[in-house]
Amino acid sequence: MFQMEEVCLNSEPVFDEGDEYEADGDCSMEHDDQARETHTKKEPPQPTVGLEFDSFEEAYDFYNVYAKEQGFGIRVGNSWFRSKRKERYRAKLSCSSAGFKKKSEANNPRPETRTGCPAMIVIRLVESKRWRIVEVELEHNHPGYETIKSLLNKAVYNSLKIAEFEMAWADIIKQHGLGDNKWLQMLYEDRQRWVPVYLKDTFFAGMIPVQEKESLSAFFDGYVHKHTSFKEFVDKYDLALHRKHLKEAMADLESRNPCFELKTRCNFELQLSKVYTKEIFERFQSEVEGMYSCFNTRQVSANGPIMTYIVKERVEVEGNEKEVRNYEVLYETSQVDIRCICSLFNYKGYLCRHALNVLNYNGVEEIPSRYILPRWSKDFKCRYPLDHSFDNIDVYNPIYWYNNLYKRAVPIVEEGARSEDHYRAALHELEELLNRFNIVEDNLM
Ligand SMILES: [Zn+2]
Ligand SMILES: [Zn+2]
Repeated sequence: MFQMEEVCLNSEPVFDEGDEYEADGDCSMEHDDQARETHTKKEPPQPTVGLEFDSFEEAYDFYNVYAKEQGFGIRVGNSWFRSKRKERYRAKLSCSSAGFKKKSEANNPRPETRTGCPAMIVIRLVESKRWRIVEVELEHNHPGYETIKSLLNKAVYNSLKIAEFEMAWADIIKQHGLGDNKWLQMLYEDRQRWVPVYLKDTFFAGMIPVQEKESLSAFFDGYVHKHTSFKEFVDKYDLALHRKHLKEAMADLESRNPCFELKTRCNFELQLSKVYTKEIFERFQSEVEGMYSCFNTRQVSANGPIMTYIVKERVEVEGNEKEVRNYEVLYETSQVDIRCICSLFNYKGYLCRHALNVLNYNGVEEIPSRYILPRWSKDFKCRYPLDHSFDNIDVYNPIYWYNNLYKRAVPIVEEGARSEDHYRAALHELEELLNRFNIVEDNLM
């Protein structure tokens, strides 16, 4: 549910002082006929006084499912406990818009979503094992998401004339106080791109090719189709992308600003800690450490500039048994070309402990650049931008949005991690932005 974070069934007793709202005596129990009209799904039974459940959780789930259908969130308003065994015997489950923000929360940057909504049920324990609904208030003092969604759907799909749509839309906005809703403002500004009545007119005038018309309706269907909730869409699409992008950006950040712990005093390790990404560096590091299990490096032959070395290594075999193995390494001095018989470089793309030993033995302090493959390097992504395939920028293509946002987000993450001030500023802005996305959701609930 939307407000699930406010509910914790396993928590200690909840006494929410912010919830001392007295239901207005003349609250209507009628339903929104317009909402019902287009709402054809089979509905769960309504909360009714006298309904019983086997457990608190079952009662909670029942109200939660009902609430979800109606488009609002719930939370545990008050609970009463028997003092000795801390056993809950009575609870009030409220609409998540119940109560008002507490004074202590006044500085919380989250937008105020509480409206003092009276909708709730009170359940109590009967015969010490069953839970019964003893009080019900169905009416909310704010629009539920389902209501708005069905009204919007109706305005969008049933309008035969542009003026009709315009009037219906304006009416919904006014009736439900949605004038501040940025997302709806944006949709409205773009109405000629997706509202069928505009497309139809434009289509008949031959302005928009059929294909585009179809893709635009599909775009809107993704948002407001009656079987797709805004919430679902946001969850599955925006948040998925958001998480993916953050995860990737963090992985990238981790490799770009490494605090790689050096394990040896070997210069090769220091050198590549500045170049490699974290993952490859750690693998390479074990080769550097492995140099210390090698011993007795000696030249066995020389043929012009090509010298052959044998490096002995004590390797662990079965159990704790150690065995000495001889590795042949060819070293070409003029080009600084190096090959080891173990062929690690060919298989894994970084030099083996034996080759490192021979370089070290010959006083070579830096690994030659040809043995540092660019695909392991931190700058690889920068040199191969993600959106190189986008020759034609389609500003209405979500993939383009994703790539462009991604590209612009990474520098924010990097700059943000440079100092505590930067970090706080970046975090604040990101949370603000996320909040703005959430307001869109909340307002439509
Ligand atoms: Zn409510
Ligand atoms: Zn080797």
